[in-house]
Parts: sequence; structure tokens; C-alpha cells
Amino acid sequence: MTMTLQEITEKIRIFRDERDWEQFHNPKDMAMALSIEAGELMEQFLWKTPEEVTTRVFEKREQIEEEVADVAIYLVELADILNIDLFAAMERKIAKNSAKYPAEKVRGSSMKYNEYGA
Ligand SMILES: [Mg+2]
Repeated sequence: MTMTLQEITEKIRIFRDERDWEQFHNPKDMAMALSIEAGELMEQFLWKTPEEVTTRVFEKREQIEEEVADVAIYLVELADILNIDLFAAMERKIAKNSAKYPAEKVRGSSMKYNEYGA
């Protein structure tokens, strides 16, 4: 069963409001919490060689999944607080990135947009 963004947003709101945490969930602290969770995700791979990362993804799947979920939960709630339609914003940004990185120009290259000489 796949939930919609609205349904998961509602679950997050309920979790927050049952604990009276809305008072703490301002945009600044939500952005910080999001970054901290992203750090916890990075920590899963810190100092690991590419081979060790492959092994870790397999062996620590549950922990990695939880950190990915933590990042997503804070992101969805932050978008909700800021009244951002997350999927619409993502769609607009993907379109912007497509224009910035034309496939025929950048295919197979990891250069940044200011390096490939648009
Ligand atoms: Mg975490």
C-alpha cells in the first residue's frame, strides 16, 4: 500500500500534535533537525571505502532506512510548516535542473553547470 503525500503529512502532524511539539517546530529548528538527520545518514558511511559502503548497505539496512526516514519526515513536515507543495516544488526544480543540465551536453559528466561551458 502506498500512501499519498497528504496522508503521510497528516500522520506526521498527528504525531507532533499529540506531543504538543508544534511550539518547537519552527522553520529554523526544523531545518537544523533535517540537517542533523542527514548527518546521521552520512555517519553510516563515514570513513568507509566504496567496498565497505556496499557491505554496510547490506548489513545495516534497517539503520540506514531509519535515517532516510528521519530525513524524509523532517523534510515533509518542514514543507508543511512553510506551506510548500513538496511534489510541485520538486517538479519545478527538476524542470529547472533539466534546463541547467541539458542531457546532450552533460551526459556521463559530473561537471557542475558552471564548468561545462554552457
Ligand atoms: Mg536519526
